[in-house]
This record gives sequence, C-alpha cells and structure tokens, in this order.
Amino acid sequence: MSHIRGPPRSKDTSVVVVVLETTEVYIVVSLSTRRDTQVIYVDPTTGALRYVGKQGEDVFESEAVALNYITDGSRILSKSTTYAKAVLGYAALGSYALILVATQLSASVPNLPGGGCIYTVAESQWIKVQLQNPQGQGNGELKNIRELADLDIDGKYYFCETRDITRPFPSRMTIQEPDEEFVWNEWLSKPFRDIGLPGHCVILLQGFAESRNFVGTGQQGGSVALIARRSRLHPGTRYLARGLNACSGTGNEVECEQLVWTPRTGSQCVPFSSYIWRRGTIPIWWGAEIKNAVSVEAEIYVADDPYNGSLEYYQRLSRRYGKKSSEADAARQKKAGMVPIVCMNLLRYGEGKTETVLVSHFKDSIQHMKSTGKLGNTWIQLINYDWHATVKSKGQQQTVEGLWRHLKAPTMAIGFSEGNYYDTKQHLKECKGSVICNNDVNGGFCMDSVQNGVIRFNCADSLDRTNAASYFGALQVFVEQCSRLNISLDIDAMFGLSTSRYSEHNGRSARSLPPGWEERFDSVTGKSFYIDHNTRTTTWEHPCQEAPQKPWKRFDMTFDQFKSSTMLVPVNHLAELFLLAGDIHATLYTGSKAMHSEILNIFKEETGKFSKFSAVQNVKITVQRRYHNYLNDSSRQKQLEMFLGLRLFKHLPSIPMFPLKVLSRPSGCMLKPVPSITPIADGGSSLLSFKKKDLVWVCQQGADYVELFIYLGEPCQVCQLLLTVSHGPEDSSYPASVDVRLGSSIDALKLVVEGACIPQCSNGTNLLIPLTGRIDPEDLAVTGKSARPDIRENTHLPLLYDFEELEGELNFLNRVVALSFHPSARSATPITLGEIEILGVSLPWTDMLNNSRRSPELHEKLSSVQRDLGSKSSASSLLPGSDVHSSVRSSSTKSLSVQSGGSGNFVDFLTGDFETSKSNITDHTSFGNEEEEQTNFDDEFDVNPFAPASEVPVAKVNKVEECGSTQLYLKFFEALSRNNKGKGLSFEQMMKLEIKRLRLDLSAAERDQALLSVGVIPATVDPNRSFEVDYSYLLKLSSLADNLALLGHAVLEDRVNASIGLAKGNDQKIDFWNVSENDEFCYGGACEVRALTSLQASATSESKSVFLECSQCERAVCKSCCAGKGAFLLLNTYRDLKLYGGSQGGGYSALADCYVCKSCCSEMIKRALYVDYVRVLHSMRRKDRAEKAALNAVNQVCRLESSRISDLSQSIQTGQRQMKQILDGEESLAEFPSASFLHSVETADDSEPLLSLLAPLGSGEFQSYWKAARDATSVEFSIVLGGLSDVAGVAVIVSSCGYSTSDCPIVEIWASNKIHREDRTFIGKWDVQDIVSSSPQLCGPEKSSSMNESPRHIKFHFPNPIRCRIISIKMTLSHIGSRSTKFSENFDLLSLDDSSFYESNPTNSHNSFIHAKRIVVFGNSLRKEMGPDTSAGIMRMRSYIDRSPPLGRFRIPVEAERLRDNDLVLEQYLLPNTPGIAGFRLDFFNVIRPRVTHSPSSSELDMREFSLTRMEDRFVNPAILYIQVTVVKESGKLIVEEYRLPEVKANTPLYFDFPDLREEVRCVIFRLHGDVTAFVDDISELDGLNLRNLPVASGLSLSNKIKLYYYADTYEMGKIGSLSAV
Ligand SMILES: [Zn+2]
Ligand SMILES: [Zn+2]
Repeated sequence: MSHIRGPPRSKDTSVVVVVLETTEVYIVVSLSTRRDTQVIYVDPTTGALRYVGKQGEDVFESEAVALNYITDGSRILSKSTTYAKAVLGYAALGSYALILVATQLSASVPNLPGGGCIYTVAESQWIKVQLQNPQGQGNGELKNIRELADLDIDGKYYFCETRDITRPFPSRMTIQEPDEEFVWNEWLSKPFRDIGLPGHCVILLQGFAESRNFVGTGQQGGSVALIARRSRLHPGTRYLARGLNACSGTGNEVECEQLVWTPRTGSQCVPFSSYIWRRGTIPIWWGAEIKNAVSVEAEIYVADDPYNGSLEYYQRLSRRYGKKSSEADAARQKKAGMVPIVCMNLLRYGEGKTETVLVSHFKDSIQHMKSTGKLGNTWIQLINYDWHATVKSKGQQQTVEGLWRHLKAPTMAIGFSEGNYYDTKQHLKECKGSVICNNDVNGGFCMDSVQNGVIRFNCADSLDRTNAASYFGALQVFVEQCSRLNISLDIDAMFGLSTSRYSEHNGRSARSLPPGWEERFDSVTGKSFYIDHNTRTTTWEHPCQEAPQKPWKRFDMTFDQFKSSTMLVPVNHLAELFLLAGDIHATLYTGSKAMHSEILNIFKEETGKFSKFSAVQNVKITVQRRYHNYLNDSSRQKQLEMFLGLRLFKHLPSIPMFPLKVLSRPSGCMLKPVPSITPIADGGSSLLSFKKKDLVWVCQQGADYVELFIYLGEPCQVCQLLLTVSHGPEDSSYPASVDVRLGSSIDALKLVVEGACIPQCSNGTNLLIPLTGRIDPEDLAVTGKSARPDIRENTHLPLLYDFEELEGELNFLNRVVALSFHPSARSATPITLGEIEILGVSLPWTDMLNNSRRSPELHEKLSSVQRDLGSKSSASSLLPGSDVHSSVRSSSTKSLSVQSGGSGNFVDFLTGDFETSKSNITDHTSFGNEEEEQTNFDDEFDVNPFAPASEVPVAKVNKVEECGSTQLYLKFFEALSRNNKGKGLSFEQMMKLEIKRLRLDLSAAERDQALLSVGVIPATVDPNRSFEVDYSYLLKLSSLADNLALLGHAVLEDRVNASIGLAKGNDQKIDFWNVSENDEFCYGGACEVRALTSLQASATSESKSVFLECSQCERAVCKSCCAGKGAFLLLNTYRDLKLYGGSQGGGYSALADCYVCKSCCSEMIKRALYVDYVRVLHSMRRKDRAEKAALNAVNQVCRLESSRISDLSQSIQTGQRQMKQILDGEESLAEFPSASFLHSVETADDSEPLLSLLAPLGSGEFQSYWKAARDATSVEFSIVLGGLSDVAGVAVIVSSCGYSTSDCPIVEIWASNKIHREDRTFIGKWDVQDIVSSSPQLCGPEKSSSMNESPRHIKFHFPNPIRCRIISIKMTLSHIGSRSTKFSENFDLLSLDDSSFYESNPTNSHNSFIHAKRIVVFGNSLRKEMGPDTSAGIMRMRSYIDRSPPLGRFRIPVEAERLRDNDLVLEQYLLPNTPGIAGFRLDFFNVIRPRVTHSPSSSELDMREFSLTRMEDRFVNPAILYIQVTVVKESGKLIVEEYRLPEVKANTPLYFDFPDLREEVRCVIFRLHGDVTAFVDDISELDGLNLRNLPVASGLSLSNKIKLYYYADTYEMGKIGSLSAV
C-alpha cells in the first residue's frame, strides 16, 4: 500500500547467538548500518563481554566468515544457534548471564520522514547462559533471575536503529544520545557500551508505535504514525505505581506523538507535522490499595506531603515542551515565552465519589506550586471534566462535543510542529525556520513552527478514559495537520473544488448531510443545492462547508457535523491506532486489555453491536484486572525494576556491577612446560583453555610439587584463582595446597598466598581462591587479625566494620602468576590438574593507548588523580619495579583527604553535583578562622565542625612529614583521652578517632603501629569492642547502619533518575552524615535546639551559618545541631517505609528537603550515621588505593603529561599511520598490553619507562625514548608476544637522538616458546654499525618530525619466519676499536677519536648507552587457541588414572555435639574406641557477599559515570574464611590445624584430610573465623528490609555441616552395616 519510496535499504541487521558444545557463547552481530560483522565473546566464567576489535579475531567481513571462524570450519559443534534481528540487552548475573534478543520484528513505522524504520519487537527470547563462576549466589537471587527472564517483551517494545526516537520528531540528537527517561534497556545495554559497541544493542522504548497510510478526499496520500513512549521514571504496575514517586515521575506516564506526513512526490522534500501530548496519573503523592482480591473499590489515600516533587514534574515537562529548548538559537528569542501545560483531568468529582479527594488535591497542588513562585515560565491550567458522569448523563456524542469545547483554546494555543525534510543540506540554506541536522540523517529538517507547551490527560490510572479523551483531542489536531499538509479530509472539498478533476466523477453519494437536510440538483446547471427542512430554507452552500479554509474549524462543530463533513476512513484508521495503543498501555499497567474503548468506534457504522459486546467485556476485564493486580503486581514490579537495573542491591545483592575478567585466556600461556607423564606438545597451555575443561592433566610420578608459570594475556590486578578439580577415580590425586606468587615480570614475583588449602572434591568442582596482593609481613604482625583465637576464647565479631583490615598491595601490571601445587599426603598417584583460571581487573589499555577518541578522556581522568597525588609520588612510582604499596606509603599524599577534608566537602550524594561540593568547601572555610584553628589546636583541636580538616596542608608534603600524619593521629588521640581522665574512650570518641585516622590516610596497620609505639593496645580503641555498649546494642546498631546503607542507595538511585530531564541541582545544606571527627558545638543564636554545648566563640560566625527547620519538632536548628540527612531516612524506617519509590503507605520522600535535629533522633541513629560514615571512608580508601595503583601502572607504560592530552588523539592517529608504513603489510606482534617483557631491564633514571618500548607508536612524548642504565654495556629484552606467531623479523625504531659512533649496538636475536634458555633458537646477529654506515640518516638527532614519513627504524629480517611465543633481543655495545675497520674513511677518523675519548673518559660520553624508541616484532599471528593438537597426548594421560576403585570414606558416629559462639564453633564429642579420624567433610555455606555495605559516597554518586579502575570493594579486600580444627586427645593433648576455605557453590561437599590419622580422640572442635561478618544470607532467607541476619548469617552456622570420617575398603560396608559413606 505504501507509496513511500525511500533509499534502497541495505541488508537488515542480523544477530546470531551461538552456543558451542564447550558451552562457550558468541554473539555475532552484523548491523544494517555497517558492512562488517562483530563477534562478541561471553566469558564462560564471569559473563564479562569481550571484544577487542581486531580484524580476523573478532571483526570479520561477513557473518558467514565469522561463524566459520567460531566453529573452526564446523569442526567444533554448536549446541544451539539462535537467529535474531536485534540485541535488546545483556546482563551477567553471577552464575547466569542473560541475553535478550528480538527474533521477530514488525516494521511498524516503516519509513519516517528522512528515513529510518521503527521496529516493534514481535517475538523475543531470553537466552540463558550458565556460567562456571562459583561465586556464592542464593536461591532467592536465582529465583529473581528466572523471574527477570520471564518478563514479557513481545509487542510492547520498539526501537529505531538509525534515529533518535526518544524525543519529539525530529530529534536534534543522535541515536547515541537518547533521552534517558524513555530508554528501557539503559542498564541492559551498558555491557555493550562498555566494550565500545554501543550500537550493537538497540535503544529500546516501551509502549506503542505504529503507522497507517490513508488517502484524503483529493486522493492525496498521507501517513499517520502514533508513537507512545512510556516514561521509565516511575515504572511499574497499577497498584504500586500511581501518582508521583521519588523521581518526580508519575505512574503510567506516556508521551504520545501523532506524526503526519505526505509521501515523497518526486521533489526532495517531505512535509510533515507532529503533535505531542502526555498522559499519566495525577502528579501528586497518592496511592491506592486493594484490601483483598474481591473488594470492589480500591482505597485511595494521599500522602502527608502530597505535593512534593510536583514542581519538578512540571519543570521537566516545561523543559521538554518549551519552545526555547527546541529552538536552535535561543539567543534570537531573547525572552522565552510562557510554556503552557494544560491538565485535562477526567476524574469523577461528584459528591461521594472516591476520586473527588484526588480532584481537590490536584487543584490544591497547582495552587501550591503557584504560591512557591518557582514555576518560572511554566503556566499550568487545570480543566476538570468528569468523563464518566458526562457520558452517563448526556451520552457519548455530547461528551465528545463537551471535550472539544474545553480543548479548543489550549490546543490552538499550543499548536503543533511543522516542517519539511530535505534530502540535501543544500536546501536547508534557504530555510527560514530553525534547522535540525545531525549525522544520523542525510539531509536535514527545516522547522516552520514548533509546538509550545503540552496538554496532559489524566484519569485515575491513565488508562481507559484517558485514552478515549486523548483520541478525541488528537483527532481534531489530526484533521488540522492533514489540512496544513494539503491532505483534505473535508468531504465538501471534493465538491467545493469544482476545478478538481476528481469532483466530476467521484463519490457524490459518499457525502452525508446533517439530519433534516436534503440535496438536490439544479436541472439547468447540474449544480447541487441544499434544502434545510428544519428551517425550510435553501442554499447553494453545503451546510458543513462554511469557510473551508478556516483553521481548527471542527472544534466548533457538533458531533454530527464533524461526522458528516469528514472522511471517516482516515478517522477510523486513527481510532484503530488508539485502540491498539490503549490495549498496550492497559496491558503494561494492569496486565489486561483496555476497557470502555467502544467510544473510539463512535465513527464506525456498526457501533451499536460493538457496544453491547463490550459492555460484557468491560465487566470481565474489571474482574480480571482486580484479580491479576492483587496477585501479581508486586512480582511484576520487581521484574520491571530488575529490567531497569533498579534496586539490584535488594533483588540481586551479590552480583558484581563489573564482572571480573579471566586474564589467563585466550592469549595467556605457560612459560615453562608443565610436567606430564607423557610428552604433550603444548607444554601445558591446555590447562588454561576453557575448551578443554574436562582435561585431566597427569603430572610426573613422585614429584614433591608441581610448579606452573602462567603468563597472563593482559596485565592486571589479580583477584581470584579459579581451579577446576580434576582427577581419576581417586580424588586424592588433586593437589592439597597451592602457593601463589605474582609479579609484573618473572624476576619480580612476590609470594601472596602460601599453602592455600585445596580440599578434595568431586570432579569438575570449581574452587575459587580469593587473592590479595602481597601483605606486608609487618602489617600481619601488628594487626590483630593474624592472632587466632584460642579454643576457649569467645569469637569476637567486628560487627560495625573491619577495624583490622589488612591491605594487600595493588598492582595493575601483574603479568606472571606462579603456582606451586603440593600433593596430598594420601596421594599414591601422580598429581593431576584441571583447568586453571586467573581472574582480575585490567585497565582499559586499548582505549588508553590505541583509541584516539577515548584516550584523551581517559588520560584526563588519570591526570586528575595524579594532580591529587602531587608530584612526589608519581616520580617515585616511575621507578620500574616499585610497588604501589610502598609508593603509597612513601608518599603520604592524601587524595583521600583532599576529598574529605571536612564533613562539609564530602560531595553530598543527594545533590549529585561535585561543583556544588567545591563551593561548599569555600562556604565552610568561611565558617572557620584558620589562624584560630592553629592556636586552638592543642586544646580544642578545632572548634568548628565545618572548617576544612587541619591536615589539608599536610596533604601536600611527603615522606619526611609522613610521620607527621602519625604524629597528628597520636596527638588527636591524646587530646581525646586527656579529657577522659584515665577512662577509656567513649564510643563517639573511638569513631572520631577512626575518622581522623582515615582522613589522615593511615592504614589499620599504621594506626596499630602508632598506638603500640605509645603503649596503647589497639583493641582498646576498637569501636567493635567498645565496653560502653553491650553486645545486643551493637547488633541493633549494626543492623541500623545496614538499613541506612540500603536506604542511601535507594535514595541515590532515585536521585540519579530524578535528575533526568531537569536542570542540575539545588545545593544541600547538610550532607548525608553531618559528622565530624572533631568536637561539635552549637552555633547558638537562632538555634532553638542546642543539642550540643554552646561556646561563646562560635557565636560570632552566626551571621554566616545556616539555620534550618527540624521536620519533627519544627524548631530552628543550626548546622551542628542538625543530624545528617540519613537520620531522616532512619526515622522514617521506624514508621512505614517501602523501598518501592514510596508510593504506597505514604512512604518517605527522597526529594524532601527535610532535616532532623539531633535531639529528635535517638542516640542510636546518631551512632549509626557514624558507623556508616566510617564504612564510607573505608571504601573510599580502597578506591583511592586502586586509583593510585592504576596511575602508577600507566606511568610505567607512558608518562602522563597533562599538557599533552589535547594532542593525544592526533598523535595516536599519526602513530597508527606510521606503524602501518613500518609494518608494510605485516602484523605487529609485540605491542603492549598484549605483549610484555619477561624480565625487568635496568633503565636509566631519566629514561622513558621500559614498557614504553612496546607501547603503541603515538603514545608518549614524540621526542622521548628508552635508555638503558648508564653502565650497562649489554641488555637483553625477552619479549612475550601477544600470541603464538610466525615471526618474520624485528624492527627497532631509532630514538630521536639518533645513533652516533659510540652507541651502535650489536643485536642478537633468539626465538623460543618457553623460558628455558637452552631451548631457544638463535636467529642471527646484526651489527647496527654496519647498517648505520650505509644509512647515515640514522645518525644524529632527528631533523624533521614529519608526521607522514615513517620514523627512522632498522629492520632485522629473519632468514625464515619462525613460529614462537618469545623473542629475545640482546643489544651489546661492542668495543669501539674493534670495529673501526668497518667504517668508511670519513667515519673512521671520527670513531677513532671517539673511542680514545671514550676509553679515557667513559662517563663523559653523552651517547654511549643503549637506547631505542620502540621495538617492533612483525610477522603473522596464529589463531588464538590453535596451538599444536594435543588430543592424543591427553588421551594417553587419561589412561594413567584408570585404576582400581578407591577407598571409601565412612562416617564416624558422634556421641554429642555442641554449638556455641553464634554457631561458629562446633564441638563434637566422640565415643570411646572410635576408629582413627582421617578427616572431616564440610558442606559449603549458603551465603553471599553483598555488594552494598555502606551508603554511597561521591564516587558512587553517578553509576553512569565513567570509571577507570572499576574495581569493587569486594575485590580490593576479599573476604576469606578459615576453619580451625582443634583435636583434643584422651591424653588432654591438643592438636590445632587451620584451613583456608576456598569459595564454592552452596552445599558442595569439601573433604579435608588430616595429615595423619587421629586416634584416641575425645573431642574435635571446629571454629569458623576470618571475615565472617562480610557474608550475609541469601535474600530468600530474609524477611523485609534487612540485609542480614545478625550477628552472622545463619548460612554460616556449622550445624549439620561437618562430618568426621575414616577411610576403609568399600567391602567393609557389608561387614558393618551401621556404617555409612560420607
Ligand atoms: Zn545548635
Ligand atoms: Zn527536632
């Protein structure tokens, strides 16, 4: 039917999701907008998406080539293949990943003016991928994941691949800058944005989009599209999402657009017009509650403070629909006009109607907003029109007429947008209106007029009445839109226009007259005339044809006049669209179709029949809705929240926001061959391959240990070691323990874990061993954690926070992981191994070094960290091999304290604005007098709680003053204890001391050392052990702080969403905590609360201080006497708090600018704020350490120079171009980060870092280069290539200083696959002197820096390409004299002079050191994971492990059991004459480690914010559990052993063998310790709001978890019947 012809569409987007037999998943995407195909790999362990953008690896010329590559030419079988049309989203959720794809689309708006198709998702599929991540995840979470994957998508979501359709047509913005209010897969599309493929996941809108073609009376064709975008600010279902929420969004809020355009008629112009309106529930805080499934009316209630957020709601509308925002040059219109917002309220307002209360509140809310004077240029009008009552009393037709009367003036005033689309930008020059152009559209739009303001329809639910009324409103506009586009829908038009060629032949019969009229023909002229029998008059004019050109004339018509004068076919097309849209919105909101829709068919002939039918239908739907809503609303609400990524900390508390990467594959390798019982060609790399995960690697017989050297594919901070247990029938062949060493090169390995226990498990079990960097042994010695409690001691739980946190070194350049496996004592067979994975966090190197677009942004970010650090630390961190731990120590620079210098300059996360916080700092500075502060220091420390912390000046200093911060800490401690007259510190004082410590950036170990140095036992200042508070109080306090954390995150999310579409924030006077490490004093003066001691001195600053009103007692309160904003949330918790946006039960208002004074909140609330604040500071310290480590890593590759950042993108592009010239068609095989040095090489102090030699050309200063240490006459570089490659040669890019006679090295090159020197192949020896002599341009400083030439370089071609993984290059400065003969006559003399000079004064020679700018290895890389075929060898190994059946484990009966210490200690008493105990079985705990542990700080403020390190707290400081076993012998002798527990899936049986048999045992005591408080129960075990069951997760209880066993031949089973296997 379509007359519209667009440009020929290229192929449609094609998506193929391939699941291989190995369970690996690939998402293959060929976009319609690109020629090539991208392959995205789903990491089978963590679900992280991987894409590097390398041709032939994950970029292919076509889908077929890509598929062929994945299946290795169909040699690898695929388990399932899903063909789809679009990717809608992806989420990695712990043990599962979900891929949402659209398998069927309908082109529901096939061709928008200017091109672009809107597709509605007709069928979709959630593809569930099981991951081998053993991270704990409870049943509750798994259930929620299943529910998420049940969310119904089909028919309710739509997208456009090429244009932004989240804004009124035509959008000024590009597809990649959508309006977030209408993007429903913002969270689900994030993984694709993170890998740099934002377009590979569509931007999904919820609602309805469809178009119809129609023909006007003059046969002019037209198209009309109805596009309804549902807002996601208040997502959810009928009874849970009504009215406003904390995001100032209303429930069931929809923006509707009616787009009319004419088909292309030869010319290059498409005229169009667009009309926008809104529909939604009433924008006040209200709700409705169904008491039970059968009750007739839901109960409506209104919140205490119902107009909160109303203002923001209208402001958002005003910003969106104000002419100003859509006008290109606002400057032209100096004074913005008013933006009308007309609310068409269709509620019942008759006496006794339940909705009446809402109507009056609606009125009041508008009065209220007007009274605030904050509406600006927004002009609000409320029209009440009781739809149901009018229909009942006057009938449908009069109801419609009445509506038109109300709508006429506002509709005409607001108007609609009109314009033309032009194919070429040329035409736009003549455009008189505003021009809209962006890269997504070839041509551009010229706007003749733009709609100003909006009409908003509402009923109680924004469902049936709203849909009907908005149809009749839009219908009037539709006819007008058509008329302006010269598509006439006037029936008279075809008669009135007698010149029209159609008028002669067409449809005289089609016209209709009002009742009582008759048409006759003049017999002479043949012309019609009309008789009005009502008035007995005749006329030539058609009664419905007065003034045909009069705009908006139909508003004045009666219903009948409208019907008789208008072509009804297009009108009914429109009605059909509204009917469909109404059903979609009703289904989304209530789960059932729309009711009372028959009125939309009023223009159809057979209306009567339909309405009878639908009356029955309405009753049915009412019942359905009620029932459905009652049962399903809350679970559907949860589904939607998860879909949107909201409240995940509650629904999926354990899932990481940034899944770790597995860095041991695909390009990792074994640096030494792993010993095996039969020779295997790949030397053990199979152990790193997921494809061979069922491998059983059998090591040599009788080895004491097996050592593995793993080279990681990318440098990273290593976080976890993941082992796949693999053995024969006997599980004891798998090693019993492992040592882990880490380092950036093989000569810099540091022991991080010694003897980590590996229990015996069934084949295929995944064991996760959490890792930290190396912990300083001194730290271990001073912090209490290492001191294990004695069996008689009670377990102490750090309930509030980890007071004794041990900090491991962070290093993002770790490259080599050495594992030493030790066999179990019982093992009689060789050690067997299975798949080994190293998980970690890597920096975005590729973006930083190769991506000219993103690199400047990243460097900017990093250099801001560097600025915080100050100059000193970066200098020290430049030294190769310096670890971050020490550099952090040596620089006591405090970026932490820069951020948190005073309680006030914490960024208030409620405002969302860092700038604001900065101004806060200055605000606060003005409160205090710094001189006074200095003088008062000793006595009072700081009388002013808002003054910047006194250590800020200290932050700029370095090592010398480092003791300074320790001194400051001790001074503070002394000051605190002095006033206590010998008593211990109070709880508040302990907290203040910790705040001080964290502000001074001291680690727990540094604190303990300081305290011990003055004879104070650290435990006495541990708030967790505060004697002042008893244990049960501590439990309550901790639980309160946990709640605060959840509330804080809920508020944060709402804040982030509430800011969508609004201007950035109003500043908050009080932050979330309002706590200080210093004593606080009341400001006095106007403060009526005086919760604190008042000092005369502080009263002077009264004029500058802020006084607020306490929302509880309504007294004026000064800043000091005011509790932080968190207190307000906690107060409300005690009442009736709902996390769901608060629309139910009144809820809390996150938007409320409410304050509570300190005397209105309990001591416990105040203390909970302290606890939360310290937890935040802890988290910030971890983040800060990660940032510093990242910076340190970057500086070891390319030095950061902020001056260069602006040129970076240019220089990267130049570098890439130059590299291409050097490579001359070959591939670069040794670029950082995929390649690295195996050994460190001594580097001169003023040199570029060693790794810069491998950095991509274009990074780093143009003139800079690497220099060997001065006295080194020979250096050797062992370069591990990015993968197994056929190397053709090596090129050295000459330093900018060029070669002179004294520094030309002899170059020797070897190739090898492993690190053994004896195995390497000598390739050749070259004398650079020879080369230089024939190419004199290599000498002397670089002359031109032409960007187009390739830089000066020397190529060493190999005789034949050689397949290898490691290239060793040795450069030796030879004795000058020996080669003088090789010089030409000219050089000879010089060189002789030089050499004699050199020999006499070697130190003065300025160029006699080895140097280079870059080393480039070129050739061809082999396909990843394509090493030698090892299947035969692996089969042979397997044959060694098929042995006779093993011994059985039999349970030892226990006489009695006793649990104590919160079930963390289990005592088992044995019967006399028990067989010797061989070991115990532990069934692993069903617990999770939650992501959220504290309120969000500034850095977590915006989850959309770009972050460099993306390292969660849990990975910086992993929680580790230990089980301590004490065996009490009959003799009274004790044997104590301790096992570090790996993480496994819940209930996995783990067997721990004792080193030798335990006989004559009376009792065995098991004690669980370590970071027990870091774990919480699965959400399904918890009720309500709580995050945890205090004091420890019930899942950690040892009850029924432990069984003792002994070994025996299985035939014993028969002999002693009572024995059971364990
Ligand atoms: Zn006060
Ligand atoms: Zn109060």
